[in-house]
Amino acid sequence: MKIGILGDIHANLPALTAVVEALKRESVDVWVQVGDIVGYGPEPSACIDIVRDLGCITCLGNHDAAVLGRLDTSYFNNFARSAIHWTAPQLTPSDYEFLNALELVVKQPEFTVVHGTLHMPEQFGYVISVVEALESLEHQETRLCFVGHSHVPAIYLRRDENPRDIHVVPHSEAEVSYRGFERVLMNVGSVGQPRDEDPRAAYGLVDTKLEIASIRRVQYDIASVQAKIREAGLPEVLANRLSLGV
Ligand code: ZN
Repeated sequence: MKIGILGDIHANLPALTAVVEALKRESVDVWVQVGDIVGYGPEPSACIDIVRDLGCITCLGNHDAAVLGRLDTSYFNNFARSAIHWTAPQLTPSDYEFLNALELVVKQPEFTVVHGTLHMPEQFGYVISVVEALESLEHQETRLCFVGHSHVPAIYLRRDENPRDIHVVPHSEAEVSYRGFERVLMNVGSVGQPRDEDPRAAYGLVDTKLEIASIRRVQYDIASVQAKIREAGLPEVLANRLSLGV
């Protein structure tokens, strides 16, 4: 089985389109999305449509929850908060219905999907180092788990015989065999707003037959989404950061 994994999209349609095209060339069997379809970017409704049409197995992100009014935005920075206020009236009733149905944790026979961490999904904590990976892995019942939220990709591998010894693949672009590892925690980075100083859209691909997990990158038309962000009157910083990947 080939699993295509979409990280935080953040309403960036050109980035999402480029990632979907790249994954379609891989003939993926299952599509996954790790939350934060909306927020920051200028085309939330079109991105929800694509995720829905692909039949993605999706969980709830903190920006999705904020737009639904289910998360207090007082801890969001000003730019994130104003993007939430901009996004809310852009969504259709069926967009709201779609977001409202998302769960914090989605468990399938072969993998689990959560936006932040498995040990405190409702707190939206980040997996950014071995410290959080260890805690999340303690609660991981399936061999594979896909997360996002930090917008920085990394793969954490654990053997059951030595659960405190985590093998980390911290690269922005990587292909790793997980043969011999009983637990794989994969932060797939971000489609629509990478923060690892690589502005290309990030995505994940797992081949469960070959036991290979990959983080991949694809170029997209950054200038076109920046123009739309400015046109929409969203904060300028949200356009500028996309060129830098921060
Ligand atoms: Zn995010």
